[in-house]
Amino acid sequence: MISFNVPPYVGREKEYINEAIDSHKICGDGAFTKKCSKWFEDRTGTSKCLLATSGSTALDMAAMLTEVGPGDEVILPSFTFVSTANSFVARGASLVFVDIRPDTQNIDEKLIENAITDKTKVIAPVHYAGVGCEMDTIMDIAKKHGLLVVEDAAQGVMSEYKGRALGSIADYGCYSFHETKNYSMGEGGALLIRDEEKVDRAEIIREKGTDRSKFLKGVIDKYTWVDMGSSFLPSELNAAYLYAQLEEADTIYNDRMASWDAYYELLSPLAQQGVIELPVIPEECKHNAHMFYIKTKDIQERSALAKFLKDNGILAVFHYVPLHSAPAGSKFGRFCGEDRYTTNTFERLLRLPMYYGLGLNNVEFIADKIREFYKK
Ligand SMILES: *Cc1c(COP(=O)(O)O)cnc(C)c1O
Repeated sequence: MISFNVPPYVGREKEYINEAIDSHKICGDGAFTKKCSKWFEDRTGTSKCLLATSGSTALDMAAMLTEVGPGDEVILPSFTFVSTANSFVARGASLVFVDIRPDTQNIDEKLIENAITDKTKVIAPVHYAGVGCEMDTIMDIAKKHGLLVVEDAAQGVMSEYKGRALGSIADYGCYSFHETKNYSMGEGGALLIRDEEKVDRAEIIREKGTDRSKFLKGVIDKYTWVDMGSSFLPSELNAAYLYAQLEEADTIYNDRMASWDAYYELLSPLAQQGVIELPVIPEECKHNAHMFYIKTKDIQERSALAKFLKDNGILAVFHYVPLHSAPAGSKFGRFCGEDRYTTNTFERLLRLPMYYGLGLNNVEFIADKIREFYKK
């Protein structure tokens, strides 16, 4: 059986977890958390990276920092994971869903301005499959209308848009280190804060609304409750696992890229014949091989192909049930404009196995089976 995903493991994770145990510091913000944060700050050029317990809670922090509340609107794609929406719903905001582009499955930047009302406060683009949204256009729109932008870069670690790291471009960026993501700590995430002056408040929200991190830095002599917040700090044990992966970030990247490139090459003939569609990477984007997907003719063909692959020991999956068609989506939001590509993409997209260590033999086997399916 070829799994859809296998959590990444590079070799030193156990050693580092033992180190954390031996240091008698297993709660948050110990040595490994600091190393991970510094790694991301150096790599992305952002002012501050704060590790969190998940990509979802990183988004929660970002939503708190934007100060959205009841009566405010947030613009986001409907073709995304529920967490992008939940964080804003939890603050009482309403959602305005905008259609996606048919090439990248990212929010269509040309449709955003049409969705802006006098209630709009935030735009939340999602970098689907680690391929960047058209960020220059999105940031220009935000500037023109005085909006904040939160990048859901959960899938975009190590990806770039015009040479800038995804997650570091907008006011806030959120990463995920769930076991299904390129770099993992089991459950975990990070909040990237672009502007220095917003870091203090972010640290307070992450420390249960207290100014404890100032206290730990010796800036103040006792800490107190100053704002709303919660505990968003992951344990050192998780951070130790992640740090082992970051040390091998390029190895993981190259391995995934090799699988992605092989899929692309082996399936190109089918795409040229017009049988399937392959991912499109815009010229200004450097992606991270988070995902390899194909798009079939329609939902019947997608289901038949998924079944054929499963019968041949290959697990391929689809997503996302468009948020606006889910019960909570219609309760908390509305779709603005026409749904030309969101539902259509959900019906046609099939994700192929993709993980660190998948191996070219497996990719060849999977591509062979897809060709065999289309021969029939
Ligand atoms: C994975 C993911 C999240 C949530 O991350 P978790 O770490 O699982 O909470 C949010 N948004 C997108 C687009 C994701 O793919």
